[in-house]
Amino acid sequence: MCHCVECFPAWLQVWISKEKMEIQRQEADGTVYMNFMKSHCCYDAIPTSCKLVIFDTKLQVKKAFFALVANSLRAAPLWDSNMQRFVGKLTITDFINILHCYYKSPMVQMYELESHKIETWRDIHLQYSSRFLISISPQASLFDAIYSLLKYKIHRLPVIDPESGNVLHILTHKRILKFLYIFGKKIPKPAFIRTPIKDLGIGTFRNIATVQETASLYEALSIFVERRVSALPVVNEQGKVVALYSRFDVINLAAQKTYNNLDITMQEAISRRTCYVEGVIKCYPHESLEIIIDRIVGAKVHRLVLVDRADVVRGIISLSDLLQAMVLTPAGIDALFS
Ligand code: ADP
Ligand code: ADP
Ligand code: AMP
Repeated sequence: MCHCVECFPAWLQVWISKEKMEIQRQEADGTVYMNFMKSHCCYDAIPTSCKLVIFDTKLQVKKAFFALVANSLRAAPLWDSNMQRFVGKLTITDFINILHCYYKSPMVQMYELESHKIETWRDIHLQYSSRFLISISPQASLFDAIYSLLKYKIHRLPVIDPESGNVLHILTHKRILKFLYIFGKKIPKPAFIRTPIKDLGIGTFRNIATVQETASLYEALSIFVERRVSALPVVNEQGKVVALYSRFDVINLAAQKTYNNLDITMQEAISRRTCYVEGVIKCYPHESLEIIIDRIVGAKVHRLVLVDRADVVRGIISLSDLLQAMVLTPAGIDALFS
């Protein structure tokens, strides 16, 4: 018996072609976020006004972190006045690396933090890694910006005007997803957005880096350095999540000048934070991708902690995971795990 479509009864042919159209519609749907990001440039996502601070590499590291706090900023591009060009960035991760490298005990002052210039620290720390600023042009697409953020595993991407050489803005995952959330409202929602997150496999579900609430703050910094994760769910003895400590929270140590004692427990470190999000922003395996996007954008956080009914940590869904799945995967690109 022949199995070509034309040999089936007319009613079945109509049904098959409807099915085909539905499959094609779903396939087209799957690329809407990719197309949106390809059709908008970085300039589109830049706010009309924003604060930007640039550090000369001759500035003392300690003063630089105080300057970040004083200006409520998370990072600054670095300018080398000898070379007359940008050479990198200073972020809270660098503050963590410095503390982790030089801390001995509350009784011993960190001489290096007091005296090092940014360039001294970079000479020691960046011996074996690249020392250039990863940036993007305002005319480049948001798709390219997402690719760079995920490929280089960074959280801040300076937008530099190629003509003047000026930094116009620093793009982040949060800013890009917010842009999609606001200006992508009119684009049709793809079918997969209503699928439960457990079926989509978006996020990390194994080997989650967590920290015990009784562990010391220094232990948490060690996990940040070794695992290179952006945040740690803080758990109690039963493995239930009781708080979230992100790399951003470490800036509190500079704000309060309490970085000389990293022996305090995580419980103490959490209770001493002045600028933080109340509670833990979580999600559950049965919740849809749509609900998760609404929650993460609404809470202005970089990730949700996936928990079971007993509040035990089962995974992390970060903005990197969402942008990889919604924008890069439809283009056949795996920047996050490559
Ligand atoms: P954070 O999460 O603390 O803001 P990132 O993940 O962006 O930090 O930074 C990780 C490391 O990469 C830091 O040492 C930082 O100095 C470096 N870095 C961040 N952004 C850039 C960039 N655009 N170009 C070069 N290096 C960068
Ligand atoms: P960034 O803006 O640098 O990406 P984060 O989103 O990691 O910073 O953190 C900003 C603040 O939000 C921090 O105080 C952090 O503890 C808090 N935070 C981030 N994610 C969560 C979460 N899932 N639950 C509770 N607080 C969170
Ligand atoms: P991020 O740096 O948060 O943008 O995430 C980069 C990747 O690391 C994503 O795949 C996250 O799911 C994963 N990730 C983030 N935090 C953790 C963690 N605490 N443990 C394990 N993986 C994590």
